[in-house]
Amino acid sequence: MIECPKCLSKGRVASSRRVTPGLRELYCQCMNLNCAEVFVLHLSLSHYPKRTGGKPNPELQPELCSDDNQVDMFDE
Ligand SMILES: [Zn+2]
Repeated sequence: MIECPKCLSKGRVASSRRVTPGLRELYCQCMNLNCAEVFVLHLSLSHYPKRTGGKPNPELQPELCSDDNQVDMFDE
């Protein structure tokens, strides 16, 4: 979600431009009509996280860790 730095309301990305392969400029606009500020955010590559081969991380992918849609084949 994009947040307006001026009024903290919700904003949207109107356009974007690639600066380098790891850096984009996002041209954003505040959705609050009383503010309607236009601002530019940098979206930059931080790092490549290590893949462990283990189970999903509940902090990063909580939707993969819920048991709601799982059918336990061994539970009779
Ligand atoms: Zn705003």
